[in-house]
Amino acid sequence: MKNQEVANIFRKIADMLEIKGENPFRIRAYQKAAQNIENLAEDIEIIAQRNELDSLPGIGKDLAQKITEILTTGTLKQYEEMKKEIPEGLMEIILIPGLGPRTAKILYDELKVESIDQLERLAQEHKLQGLPGIKAKTEENILKGIAIYRQKMSRVMLSTMLSLSREIIGELKTLKEVKRIEVAGSVRRRRETIKDIDILVVSPRPEKVMDFFTQLRLVETVQAKGRTKSSIRARGGIQVDIRVVEPESFGAALCYFTGSKAHNIRIRELAIKKGLKINEYGIFRGEEKIGGEEEEEVYSALELPVIPPELREDRGEIEAALHGNLPQLVEMEAIRGDLHVHSKYSDGVATLEEIAHKAEAMGLEWIAVCDHSQSLKIAGGVSLAQMEEKIAAIKKFNQKSKKVKLLCGAEVDIHNDGSLDYPDELLKKLDIVIAAIHSGFKQDEKTLTNRIIKAMSNPWVHVIAHPTGRLIGEREAYPLNLEKIIEEAARTRTALEINAYPQRLDLNDIYSRAAKDKGVLLAIGTDAHILDQMDYLELGVAVARRGWLEKKDLLNCLSYSELMKLTHRKD
Ligand SMILES: [Zn+2]
Ligand SMILES: [Zn+2]
Repeated sequence: MKNQEVANIFRKIADMLEIKGENPFRIRAYQKAAQNIENLAEDIEIIAQRNELDSLPGIGKDLAQKITEILTTGTLKQYEEMKKEIPEGLMEIILIPGLGPRTAKILYDELKVESIDQLERLAQEHKLQGLPGIKAKTEENILKGIAIYRQKMSRVMLSTMLSLSREIIGELKTLKEVKRIEVAGSVRRRRETIKDIDILVVSPRPEKVMDFFTQLRLVETVQAKGRTKSSIRARGGIQVDIRVVEPESFGAALCYFTGSKAHNIRIRELAIKKGLKINEYGIFRGEEKIGGEEEEEVYSALELPVIPPELREDRGEIEAALHGNLPQLVEMEAIRGDLHVHSKYSDGVATLEEIAHKAEAMGLEWIAVCDHSQSLKIAGGVSLAQMEEKIAAIKKFNQKSKKVKLLCGAEVDIHNDGSLDYPDELLKKLDIVIAAIHSGFKQDEKTLTNRIIKAMSNPWVHVIAHPTGRLIGEREAYPLNLEKIIEEAARTRTALEINAYPQRLDLNDIYSRAAKDKGVLLAIGTDAHILDQMDYLELGVAVARRGWLEKKDLLNCLSYSELMKLTHRKD
């Protein structure tokens, strides 16, 4: 889905026009278009295929043409040309919270400010005061804004990093000089937020790889270009490092650059005990190199099985490997269904048929269609009468469908007092009920905890959705006593969700593992509101694997009939 990409380009054009001091109406037109495209529930490429771009709000013939250009070429000529006129650093400065294009223009015109570091220094030295509209207080706010921006930029969500690294690797693979290529670092370990992308390559012609890499279209700035190592910033300011290593060192380098640091320290200690030395170049006994081409050699030199990258955090994986107790981590192939998708019945855009079709293409056997409950009006909450229709529609669908089965579910709202947004008479008719908090986040820990516990005590509630409510980079988890919630989940046999929506990943890896350890089942749900988002399943599996989960720990690995038996156990 290219919606965000198109919107980003329009937004950047608006910013550049503003820096250049152009006509406010023109600026506004781009901003409005960007916003409307972002809010589209449908894939803009599909709208383009139907030739209906200019019927979108705020999109005339001219902008429609520009969208088509972006969709076919990946960018816009006009935008690429404007980029040359405006210093890159200035485009970064306007991303600082509270500092818009207008102030950036003043800073540039008056003091030739072109980078954040320069701006920070000038603000600290009180050199900005006295410029039009800038007072002592503004200087203070600029410094605060820089701090927030730096913190936010230092880590990026897994989903963004995964797709960017795949895009880069896909491009590099087209180069015949690239013999082996692998992403290392926290992307390979699937951390929930990531600082930069590390790529390792084997190639007989490193300089060719460096040229090709630093000239990729997604490169915004080249920070360093060497013979075997280069760093760039890709769109969004994301740093990507590439290294070409010798073929006989590839495995050792992959292990070294995958990390984590804490895991590698343990590996090196074990090596020393065996009279070996392990580093990024290989495995050595004295001066003699005894291996390093494959990652397995590193672990087998230590008499260990290969430890999956997701576990390499020094959270007990070395001990488990030493004792032969590594978990059989769940694999994507073992996932039979998604426990949380929205349909047209609430705020999703897809019909039941479309959801099932997508599920079939993904190789899934079943999908739980869990729409919002009646009170959640802004999210198209399903009324009692509509719910009867949905039950009938799904029944009818399942009778016809040989391959994919649908579960008629609900994401029922947990009210402020812990009561549920549907009566039990309705809940008991559903195949699956996931309950969630969507309001009252400001309540204290005890109240919030008790709300969830009360919901779990309802026999018709099978799963608690996005249990902690955190949104990565935006909202902290609300105050909860998770230990108690996990205990109650075990007692009431309620599953806890691993919400796979990129910003949520809730529960996270650590709590998922804690839940598993107490015998609680987990339930991956993508919370998809459009079909493409069903692909987030992979992110849920990443969290599950980091949480040491096996097939038996996940509702997603049950067959349709096993799951139905489980959810209807109270009938
Ligand atoms: Zn929700
Ligand atoms: Zn939802």
